[in-house]
Amino acid sequence: MTIQSNQLSASDIERFGSDPTVTFRQNLAFVYERIERACARVGRDPGTVQLLPITKTVPPHILRLAFAAGIRSCGENKIQEAQYKAAELADLPLAWHIVGHLQTNKVKYMTRFASSFHALDSIRLAEAINKRLEQEQRTLDVFIQVNTSNEESKFGLEPSKVGEFVEELRKYPRLKPQGLMSLALFSDDMTKVRPCFQMLKQLREEAFRLNENITKLSMGMSGDFEEAIEEGANIVRVGQAIFGKRPTPDSHYWAT
Ligand SMILES: *Cc1c(COP(=O)(O)O)cnc(C)c1O
Repeated sequence: MTIQSNQLSASDIERFGSDPTVTFRQNLAFVYERIERACARVGRDPGTVQLLPITKTVPPHILRLAFAAGIRSCGENKIQEAQYKAAELADLPLAWHIVGHLQTNKVKYMTRFASSFHALDSIRLAEAINKRLEQEQRTLDVFIQVNTSNEESKFGLEPSKVGEFVEELRKYPRLKPQGLMSLALFSDDMTKVRPCFQMLKQLREEAFRLNENITKLSMGMSGDFEEAIEEGANIVRVGQAIFGKRPTPDSHYWAT
């Protein structure tokens, strides 16, 4: 079941171009090239960096074209949107990753289909997720979100709480902590952005000493993924560099 370009609406074409598959394929190739160059600058193996395409606001019929361009995993910020798209696209082998803040009353929707959760930032939430996973007889890869930019508006644990949090997570064995996640300061001034990445890396060392499964850093977005890689990122969450500018402002996802 593929969709033809003549099924694209005028607004689809305005946003994604007349042949989105070609556009996405080119954008992806460029992002991979930038990942490789960033790795080369610091002597890293590109195999240690994974690209998680962030597909929020990209509608299901366009995601079919993204699939044709090679997309196999989708990062979504909002659970309802992710759930709707996963159902619409159930015929495709896509993995769904939830990267945004989750309310405890929505946990049951996530555990049904998500492959990973990147925004774990409270014990209350960990407990709720663990409980659901028990009922569903499954486990879930999680990333602990840390507020490295010290902005009140951002979600995430305070950096000083990470060690204690990692210890407490032992009580929830169905959660499989993989690493730490952060949104860096939003700024064009990379001298202010890099310290956020450096802080997350340092916290990962601390977390790893307490739980040796915590090896990954989920950090870097369209505007800063190359710097994130230079500072050690293992998963970069990239949306707009692949799918073009979003119609919704970032304030829809986090207070900026
Ligand atoms: C939207 C989003 C991204 C990607 O942002 P882009 O600017 O589109 O690359 C990364 N992480 C999270 C948590 C997001 O919500």
